[in-house]
Amino acid sequence: MRSREELVEHLKRSGIRDEKVLKAFLKVLRGEFVPEEEREYAYNDTALPIGYGQTISQPFTIASMLEMLRLERGLKVLEVGTGSGYTAALIYEITKSPVYSVERIPELAERARKTLRRLGYNEIYIFVGDGSGGLPQYAPYDRIIYHAALPKIPSPIIGQLREGGIVVAPIGDLHYQDLVAYEKRGDKLVEIERREGFVFVPVVGKYGFRSYHF
Ligand code: SAH
Repeated sequence: MRSREELVEHLKRSGIRDEKVLKAFLKVLRGEFVPEEEREYAYNDTALPIGYGQTISQPFTIASMLEMLRLERGLKVLEVGTGSGYTAALIYEITKSPVYSVERIPELAERARKTLRRLGYNEIYIFVGDGSGGLPQYAPYDRIIYHAALPKIPSPIIGQLREGGIVVAPIGDLHYQDLVAYEKRGDKLVEIERREGFVFVPVVGKYGFRSYHF
């Protein structure tokens, strides 16, 4: 695909329905978030390497996650796994509110920070460190999105979500995950939606996988 318009038509045909999500994909230039040599593939519906063994996810996968998050203007969002910063920009285009994003690899965080600053996203705050247990300093959040695979939702997350808030994460083993959305009701997380069959890079950290290989 050559353009954002073609990519969005493709996402619609693939079953993405949330107009706010589709509009965000029209707005954000994915080409700005991928390395120079990948730029010609920026609007293909594929994951692309961004260095350090990590990838910018497939657009269909990101669209699925954002749809499951049920984003609206005004919501405060935490993302774990900044990567290129592309997803954080998509989130901001919907919420128009501060987005907090944690990345484990300092070089990726720095590059994402620069890209976002260059594009004028001043309300996306990037932190370096292990975000597997969330980011308690700025809690509570309305929405939390894990952009890397986990065996289960880490226990500190419930305390960082507002009542009625939603967390979306790829849950499974190292080779296969389901995208699962949970809503916080009282002191419980209740599963509200599941979409099967995704493959993410693993969360590496306290609440991630104990061992993994690339
Ligand atoms: N959202 C990104 C893609 C994320 S890929 C984008 O739009 O480009 C997953 C990212 O999660 C990788 O960059 C990886 O380094 C990061 N990650 C893995 N474990 C982490 C952890 N414990 N804390 C923060 N980031 C982590």
